[in-house]
Amino acid sequence: MAYGRCPMPSPPPEFPKPMTRLRTLLVGLDAAGWEFINPLLERGELPALQNLMANGRWGTLASTMPALTPAAWSSIITGKNPGKHGIFDMTRRRPGRYDFAPVSAAARQGTPFWQRLNEAGIRVGLVNIPFTYPPDEVDGFVVCGFGAPGSVPNLAYPPAAMTWINKRSPDFEPAVLAELLRSGDHERIFAVETAHQSRFVEIALGLAERTPVDVLAINLMLLDHANHKMPDMARIERAIRRLDDDLAQLIDGFVPDVVLAISDHGSRRVKGDFLLHAWLRDEGCLVQAKRPSTEQAEALNWILHQWLAEARGLTGVIEKLSRRFWRGVVPRLPADLADKFWARVEAAIPFARDEVMFGDKLDVAQTRIYPGAAYSGLIYVNRQGREPRGIVPETEEAALLAQIRDKLLKLTDPDDGAPLFSQVYLGADIHDGRLAEWGPGLVIDFYDSAWNIQTSLRRGTQVEQARGRYFVANTKDFGHHGRDGIFAFAGPMFGRGTLAEPGTLMDVPATLLHLYDVPIPEDWDGRSLTELMTPGFLADHPPQTQPGDSETAVLTEDDYSAAETDQIFDHLRALGYVD
Ligand SMILES: [Zn+2]
Repeated sequence: MAYGRCPMPSPPPEFPKPMTRLRTLLVGLDAAGWEFINPLLERGELPALQNLMANGRWGTLASTMPALTPAAWSSIITGKNPGKHGIFDMTRRRPGRYDFAPVSAAARQGTPFWQRLNEAGIRVGLVNIPFTYPPDEVDGFVVCGFGAPGSVPNLAYPPAAMTWINKRSPDFEPAVLAELLRSGDHERIFAVETAHQSRFVEIALGLAERTPVDVLAINLMLLDHANHKMPDMARIERAIRRLDDDLAQLIDGFVPDVVLAISDHGSRRVKGDFLLHAWLRDEGCLVQAKRPSTEQAEALNWILHQWLAEARGLTGVIEKLSRRFWRGVVPRLPADLADKFWARVEAAIPFARDEVMFGDKLDVAQTRIYPGAAYSGLIYVNRQGREPRGIVPETEEAALLAQIRDKLLKLTDPDDGAPLFSQVYLGADIHDGRLAEWGPGLVIDFYDSAWNIQTSLRRGTQVEQARGRYFVANTKDFGHHGRDGIFAFAGPMFGRGTLAEPGTLMDVPATLLHLYDVPIPEDWDGRSLTELMTPGFLADHPPQTQPGDSETAVLTEDDYSAAETDQIFDHLRALGYVD
């Protein structure tokens, strides 16, 4: 039975045994959350999703904490929490280093679900599943997308799949180019992202025709990128309608028996950024290295230019002469006048004075706590014996984290005085596994907040619309992730209606294995969502278990070349995730 756009008869109550060659479409509706989707459903504008919901089960899926694509998809891929697979953030830590490396499939620990399916003879096609580069040698095919460097030749497995893609799309790129994302040309970004998603749909269907697979998994990212980059809700809704069209095309083209539509997290709109790094600096936890005096003079010149040209509208010779005047005067001002001068500048450039004093490197010998990537809400402890220049003894870590956590929970929205964060978790409470040791000390749940968390040391050092000391109105990213994702499952083994208690993302691969009678590994944190299934199916197909991975998880060294790292970071920078 295929799930198309047209109304269809009810599935049979009992699933026939044995299940051979069951065709499953696992489709990621990246960043889809009910809050954005419901108005369109009510207007009847999402026929494909509506049809799945009417003929299957649907509800909310709790994302990982943090609700970031790499952490969330790594949990879908491995069935495990980030403490086991080791991917917590948009970037990842390396042993003995303070700088972060790009996330890659090589850094992810744990056997992916497709390997477990392959071992049972079930063939899998994977298209644009985030952070699957370098591609696994699967029985089926893999096409890498989001998170892969653009310059490498092996974006797909088997090599014949890459040859086929290159023939059909000689300009194939795993993700939309960073320059375009930075351009601010909203219509063009939207058009290119839309075409990019369509191309992945065509590639998935084309490869599935050439290399038949039982499970076709694809992630669609237009909505996620539109929510980050588009200034208005009208375009977000266009992205959601497009997502539904592409879902319909996948269903019509692949003709699955089972559709598992999921999202790795939801979406929300934001007003601007909370400057976590500046707050940690004011709290005395984070210390930036001081600039040498020549660099301070350069930084002063740059700040003055920002202030005079951008904030005060001076141009040409007038701006240059004013800048020269202030450049000479400011370093010699007596303290009280200096304070007055900087207060004026900081009305437009919130952290102008600090920017002149401090560079963009941490003074790790004095830093006790430092943040993860932008928009992650993660906080790391500079722990003695773990970090190369760690200063916080392990015995003092709990008290330090508790103190910071309390202060974070007392912060309020500058507009309405409401609490800024709904929860701040201890990493140790929510991440469990051998790699939790390398995870964040604190995870801020900012997914109910109208403010993003910014950790770039440079944010707040240009002309910004400041709102209170630690808040700046947004100029580039208009939305960020919501905490919870969604699911809509349709197929003969599923009942109907919604699920009151939300499952988690980690239940998705366990449910998928169960559909194929593949035992679920004992070390998986997810479980099959049996409450969605019919009693008849469960009687014939009781869930089984198999041994998990041997405990070999380790934090790995860098697996990208410098050029590949630059390229991936350039893309993440264009999306706002790294500095
Ligand atoms: Zn995502």
